[in-house]
Amino acid sequence: MTSEGTRYDTIIVGTGPGGATVARELARASQRVLILEWGGREPVTANFGQALRELFMPGRSFLITPDLMGVARGITTGGSSIYYCGTAFEPSYEMFDKYGVDLRDEIAEVRAELPIGPLEPRLIGPKSQRIMESARAIGLDWKPLDKFLYQDRCESSEPMGFYCAPSYESKWNARMWIDEAVAAGAILQTGARVHKVLVESKTATGVVYTQAGRTVRADADNIVLAAGGLGSPMILRESGIRGAGYNFFVDPLIFALGELDELEGPGELPMSTGIHCDEDGYMLTDFFLPRALDVATALQVGRFGKVRPRASARTLGIMIKARDVLAGRLSKRGGIRRRLMPVDAAKLEHGYGRAHAVLAQAGARKIYRTGTIAAHPGGTAKLGELVDENLRTEFSNLYVCDCSVVPEPFGRPPTLTLMGFGKRLARHLVGAEDRSQRTVSAVAAAGGGSAFRLAPR
Ligand SMILES: Cc1cc2nc3c(=O)[nH]c(=O)nc-3n(C[C@H](O)[C@H](O)[C@H](O)COP(=O)(O)OP(=O)(O)OC[C@H]3O[C@@H](n4cnc5c(N)ncnc54)[C@H](O)[C@@H]3O)c2cc1C
Repeated sequence: MTSEGTRYDTIIVGTGPGGATVARELARASQRVLILEWGGREPVTANFGQALRELFMPGRSFLITPDLMGVARGITTGGSSIYYCGTAFEPSYEMFDKYGVDLRDEIAEVRAELPIGPLEPRLIGPKSQRIMESARAIGLDWKPLDKFLYQDRCESSEPMGFYCAPSYESKWNARMWIDEAVAAGAILQTGARVHKVLVESKTATGVVYTQAGRTVRADADNIVLAAGGLGSPMILRESGIRGAGYNFFVDPLIFALGELDELEGPGELPMSTGIHCDEDGYMLTDFFLPRALDVATALQVGRFGKVRPRASARTLGIMIKARDVLAGRLSKRGGIRRRLMPVDAAKLEHGYGRAHAVLAQAGARKIYRTGTIAAHPGGTAKLGELVDENLRTEFSNLYVCDCSVVPEPFGRPPTLTLMGFGKRLARHLVGAEDRSQRTVSAVAAAGGGSAFRLAPR
């Protein structure tokens, strides 16, 4: 094993919204930060080949449950946010209040920094508009959703779509904040897969990672795991925190799809508009799959007509995403051992009934539902169970800051929440450093011993 050589203030593992936010804040506060990311940093092209490598690679970024639900995560710099739909959703403040975590100031700060808001009418495509009008016509309170989008950079004529569209520059993603962290002095290592945290006397001393076939050790005063809901629990387990990776959520989803005769068009931005049926445990939004995925999901359920040229251009779609109960476990190798529970299947079915009514109202024919997939795994290292209100584990300087820490069933897009957590953790870590520096100065002023550093608490 070779050693990195440098000692860092903080090592951050993973570059999704959780990790990128902490990295940026700490680098701006002049900490020496090392960021370790398993994925690469290929320029984002929005083509299907890249999505296959980074989002749909079986066994790496695309994990399949025993009942054949596919769970996707982005393995690349920026994590899943490179492929997300850019929808911003307020956290459930009341849920986090119960655990002693108030995210209101941090979320307000994120909102002030980023252009979060509903789409301007010119950017809501004709199919989304049709869905919204049809939903309202049958009495649903369907509205434009907030997006993480620099709308002034979007041309309304620009084709919109799923992965990385409208264009890299238009949709905020976590790689942008990693770039800012690097500009402020952080070191980013890509292709660096972290396996475990080294612990001595209940204190984390460093991490072990592999990169280009080499095993490397890096040391730091604080370590933040932000490897996502499926990545961080595996590292925690390897490091001795055995309770990680049990009883979690994935926010399962299906699509209701139909065909329109007269409204044919290119992709539109998914999740432009929708409704959160909180009491029924699901949300409904418009959704437009790129052709390859539209055909793949149709073939999976025996809809062979979708291979016809232009069939996808006529598709009208609604996503039904459920707030599922906590269940299952991660296997020793990180596989997902979890089935869709009957109560969650019932929520999806209920949502499908509503979506079907909206599509029918919109004039769609041949309406069908797809198989189940998921894209929000979380709750694998829960607040109040494996991490405290400062996201600290049982080891005094080891933290988790990603979707793993969400303590209860969630059922809402998590990115904004995770950025709030990232800001809050960074504040805690910078405050801890200030406190330890003040102690050092006080000891020195009192004629005490040579410089030392307290383990921040
Ligand atoms: C297709 C899709 C659409 C989505 N749409 C939305 C949306 O509209 N709005 C929303 O809020 N959310 C959306 N999400 C969910 C959102 O993207 C994720 O919830 C969010 O990115 C999770 O952030 P995270 O920091 O927990 O982890 P991730 O984004 O998963 O990042 C984890 C990072 O850690 C890295 N990593 C993993 N293991 C290791 C390891 N051992 N060593 C080093 N690095 C490692 C990964 O490569 C990755 O970069 C979507 C997700 C997908 C897949």
